[in-house]
Amino acid sequence: MQVGSSHAEWFGDESIARRQSSMVESVLSAVLLAAILVASWFLTDRFARWMYRRCEKCGTLNAKRRLQCRNCSHPFAGSSP
Ligand SMILES: [Zn+2]
Repeated sequence: MQVGSSHAEWFGDESIARRQSSMVESVLSAVLLAAILVASWFLTDRFARWMYRRCEKCGTLNAKRRLQCRNCSHPFAGSSP
């Protein structure tokens, strides 16, 4: 029976290294996913700030072109061109 040597080859350093590299890959993909999430959140936030204004009175988001709040009719100052 010569199972011992081949067994050591199968579960030797190569297997451990492969497991570590796959772990590094999964960590990298998790970091990449987090970066994508943060970037999309940042872009959405910038876009919302660019497109909408928040009512000072009730906090409702209104389109920039609106002259008054759609919820409480609070007038927006300085929106007229
Ligand atoms: Zn309002």
